[in-house]
Amino acid sequence: MTMSGSARPEENSKTTPPKPRIAVLKLASCDGCQLAFLGLGDKLLELSGQAEIVHFAEAGPLGPLTGLDITFIEGSLSTREDHDMVLSVRKESRFLVTIGACATSGGIQALRNLASGPLLSSLYPSPEVIDFLDQSTPVASLVPVDLELWGCPVTGDQILLALRSLLFGALPPVQTDKVCLECKRRGIACVTVTKQIPCLGPVTLTGCGALCPSFDRGCYGCFGPAENPETSSLARSFSGLGLTPAEIARRFLFINSNAPAFREEGRRWQGGDPHE
Ligand code: SF4
Ligand code: SF4
Repeated sequence: MTMSGSARPEENSKTTPPKPRIAVLKLASCDGCQLAFLGLGDKLLELSGQAEIVHFAEAGPLGPLTGLDITFIEGSLSTREDHDMVLSVRKESRFLVTIGACATSGGIQALRNLASGPLLSSLYPSPEVIDFLDQSTPVASLVPVDLELWGCPVTGDQILLALRSLLFGALPPVQTDKVCLECKRRGIACVTVTKQIPCLGPVTLTGCGALCPSFDRGCYGCFGPAENPETSSLARSFSGLGLTPAEIARRFLFINSNAPAFREEGRRWQGGDPHE
């Protein structure tokens, strides 16, 4: 373990270097990404031998968010409390990592950013008791983030890969491929070519192992936009497959509606076919 520096051999018998301190913080979210963390099972137990998990609401510990080596954040910035907590935890963390679509793009709850009219009062009997921010936004809109893990939820493999690197003071390799490439690597027949199913795989970041196409379903973009996504061409091909402009808009304005590439394409189709 290298985060806290290495003691000289003669000191090893006297003092044990402190274990790296890890926190998993929850903001506005469904807890699914924390569950992906918990789903690591035995590997999580192994981690708890190598590091001190000081704060992880879903697992039990609720220690102070101070002096942290790695902080994972689940959930979007939706309330004043979220905002203040993130500012504070950024100062206290060596590495700050977002886990999941909520923390990385604003999540499904960012659909409220597109709504007009009094949405909160139609959902909550007493919205005034919660100090809502005007919009649901990603953590990176407020503070620098060292690593963003996409997905709804993230996978245990993403978390393990990140932990293995971060515990040694390095960032893990970043994925930039699209889901389509994962289908090719796994020998999964393209659902659009073979079954005319609309699929966001050509513009979506890989990392899920092409999960939905492996079950004959189109990707709905939970890992967010890939590098250089050709959203405009894909939207036109959806039109060719028979989707209405409103249906095309909804494909992009879904789990990652606040990710700029998806938001812009979705908005272009909201008022009808932009090419007519
Ligand atoms: S990214 Fe998805 S699974 Fe994770 S907390 Fe948000 S809604 Fe839940
Ligand atoms: S195929 Fe798309 S929607 Fe399905 S898990 Fe992967 S990224 Fe998410």
